[in-house]
Amino acid sequence: MYEGLHIVHRHHGAIDLRSDTVTLPSPAMREAMARAEVGDDVYGEDPTINRLEEMAAALLDKEAAVLVPSGTMGNLSTLLAHCGRGDRVIMGDQCHIYWYEAGGASALGGMAYHPLATATDGTLDLDQLRDVVCLGDDQHEAPASLICLENTHNRCGGVVLPLSYLAEVHALAQDAMLPVHLDGARIFNAAIALGVHVREITRHVDSVQICLSKGLAAPVGSLVLGTERFIARVRRMRKMLGGGMRQAGVIAAAGIVALDQMVDRLAEDHANARMLALGLAKVPGLRIDLERVQTNLVRFELDVTDLRVEEFLGRLRQRGVLMGGMGGRTVRAVTHYGVSAEDVAHVLDVVREVV
Ligand SMILES: *Cc1c(COP(=O)(O)O)cnc(C)c1O
Repeated sequence: MYEGLHIVHRHHGAIDLRSDTVTLPSPAMREAMARAEVGDDVYGEDPTINRLEEMAAALLDKEAAVLVPSGTMGNLSTLLAHCGRGDRVIMGDQCHIYWYEAGGASALGGMAYHPLATATDGTLDLDQLRDVVCLGDDQHEAPASLICLENTHNRCGGVVLPLSYLAEVHALAQDAMLPVHLDGARIFNAAIALGVHVREITRHVDSVQICLSKGLAAPVGSLVLGTERFIARVRRMRKMLGGGMRQAGVIAAAGIVALDQMVDRLAEDHANARMLALGLAKVPGLRIDLERVQTNLVRFELDVTDLRVEEFLGRLRQRGVLMGGMGGRTVRAVTHYGVSAEDVAHVLDVVREVV
């Protein structure tokens, strides 16, 4: 079936390195979506969603999972399920929840964000964490209710948190009787980079949000995972936020293909990112910290003072290459399913020409 459908993998012929969110669904996903058996999920009757949620729970070794439209709604419904108004949520000052989610949990859930300094390797200082997890005994203090971590860490350049660090944070949180939430938008990138099963990461956290729509290339969707009881609460919050979905098995079908077929190939993206980073390191006028290139995100700085970032990006764009500006002189390039090793070689030629 599906011979009539022309399947496009690339936007307008450009090599788009702005983000792994630009990935287009694979032919297997399109086919699975077309064939998906569906029902009303708010009645719990969409077999494809049920299958995706069960499959993800087994894979990440959690009791239950719930499909949500986006990572942002996944994190928001999670924070609403963990915390009440006036509660303190401890997070890194470079994390996605703090920077890029419209302050949702603060605006809609009345939570106080308590940001801690983030080291360049994506970690928070354990002594500082120890100082704030107990806050709440005194009447002046908003009670600490949750610790949020991010792995891989987006603004830190896709770095991977060490398992030993996750274990330490988990132990510290358990001593303080606080849950730990992991923003695992790119958790499979972390697992692949570490060479471990993803459950070696998730065993150290109480709840986790994973994105199907980033490197895994599904068109829509994230999952939140945790205990059965907790996920029931997340489901209620999702409903409150307007995210109860009906025949969303059409989306879940692509998610199943994502978990089945798209995880192992992330290693290719990492190899391509490495190749890109090594090439960029040799271009005079660019600065890059190769140690930070651990997964599919490549961040580098323009060191040529007479070339503005916008101008650099514009010249690349004219030559069919898209990258993103990250503020200051920082540029980001992300490898993904729509970018091949040949593409990376071509991008390096274009960058050399432009700089
Ligand atoms: C993309 C991303 C999210 C949010 O996912 P959306 O589906 O874009 O809402 C959350 N956390 C991190 C680290 C991300 O990179």
